Amino acid sequence: MTEKIIFPRAFAFAVDDLGWVDGADLSEKAVPGPYRTGVKRRFELSDYQYMIDVGKAVGARIQCLFILSEMDRTNLLARFPTTTHLREKWDNSHRVSAEQEIIMQFVRDQSAYMEFGLHGTGHEYWAPGQPQKRAEWYNLADKEPWPEASLREHIQCFKDIMAQYGFSPENGHSFPESFVPCAYSYFWNPTGSYSLGKLLSEAGVKYANTDFSEIPELSPPTEPNGGGFDFNTHVINRINYGNVWYSLATLPKVPLAAQKTDIIESHWPNWLAQDDPLQPAVTAQWIEYYKSAQRLPDRYIAKNTEQLHAQWLYNKHTVVTEHTPGVVTIDNTAMPEKAYAFKGLGNLVLKIKLAPGQHISSVDLDGAPLAVAFEDEGYGFLYLPPLERQVYTLRYAVGNQATPVHVYNDGTFNVYWVELSGQGLSANLRVYGEQEIKIRCPKPLTVQSLEHALAVVQYQYNEASGYLHVTVKAADMQGSTGDILVRW
Ligand SMILES: [Zn+2]
Repeated sequence: MTEKIIFPRAFAFAVDDLGWVDGADLSEKAVPGPYRTGVKRRFELSDYQYMIDVGKAVGARIQCLFILSEMDRTNLLARFPTTTHLREKWDNSHRVSAEQEIIMQFVRDQSAYMEFGLHGTGHEYWAPGQPQKRAEWYNLADKEPWPEASLREHIQCFKDIMAQYGFSPENGHSFPESFVPCAYSYFWNPTGSYSLGKLLSEAGVKYANTDFSEIPELSPPTEPNGGGFDFNTHVINRINYGNVWYSLATLPKVPLAAQKTDIIESHWPNWLAQDDPLQPAVTAQWIEYYKSAQRLPDRYIAKNTEQLHAQWLYNKHTVVTEHTPGVVTIDNTAMPEKAYAFKGLGNLVLKIKLAPGQHISSVDLDGAPLAVAFEDEGYGFLYLPPLERQVYTLRYAVGNQATPVHVYNDGTFNVYWVELSGQGLSANLRVYGEQEIKIRCPKPLTVQSLEHALAVVQYQYNEASGYLHVTVKAADMQGSTGDILVRW
């Protein structure tokens, strides 16, 4: 065996500014309004579908960050005048339509490939008696935080508009786990009594990304790929690589290999063509961009935001060494306590270059079989369970046969652990939306879910391939965790 195991950096995009109904930039009007997307047209269902097309093709649940003001169906925001440029006179009734309902149901139903994240309610901030200021979550103009009570209202407004579309705890849906501040307006204050991370984590947010260099007065982490915990929100740095926020059909300009951050900045227009006939070519470019990242030896496509942040934490705190080929020591003893307190630490991912016809033929972690497999772009991938603060030994071999029983991880779900017995397996998973789980195993007698929030929709066994295809549906659009039990 000549190839060694690789401990790669994650690769993921954040996509800001979905949710706007109108796109035109109003910032230079006599009474300035929000910048929106800087594209002078209305958005429609197909603009969301194009994002899903990429996510499906590359096996990623793309982090999409939403602004909800123009989705307001009841003019609720008129009662919270700091949220829009029309202040008390906010009237959104001319935008209220059945198509909005269809769009939001689509976003909910496609949550396997599109993550519904929090960007903001109105994007800027309209303080009483003051002009429009950037931006919603921190006063960048005067370098001071907005009042805590007011930001709590902004979060509540987002929640209330979500509920207008049935995205509510009563319907089993959690608040978004991911956040990107508008115009990098992040109030970083991890040791203070009031901080944006405190408000966000109380609402349910675990993961955030922003350009820290925009708030030097708050002494944020300074390394290019830096990050840290602000209360129970894990915030990582992101950099713009030349794809301007209002530019249609634009990929990053800085070559992938020269990009320093794991998360890459993008905005909705970057993913969209000027008109529908041009869209297939733009979509194909984005798919190819993801695949080129997967082909880089030291990067891999994070399937979802949890995996992106988990890998970031492992890369920072965990030491992976392979002194003897096929025997890997994973020292996770330096993982900070905070990484467990925020309940967002997921899989550690390793990869190895495979020659044509080669597979990872056996793998175990401290003697227990690691029954998760995935191959893509010439690499085999290993998904380790969320690690405790201890030293692990991973043993693997490469050969011409894959392991006989495994969960094939080509969706956007996370496989935490697969327990094997002679008569079956139990897979502990975090599933987003509705998607198919492939399991290589003998022909099953029963397939069932032990978790109410995770439904087995249907399953089918393919005798020729030896794969069981189980369609699973998560009740919570932010993901549901549970065990799938297969007996044979
Ligand atoms: Zn934005």
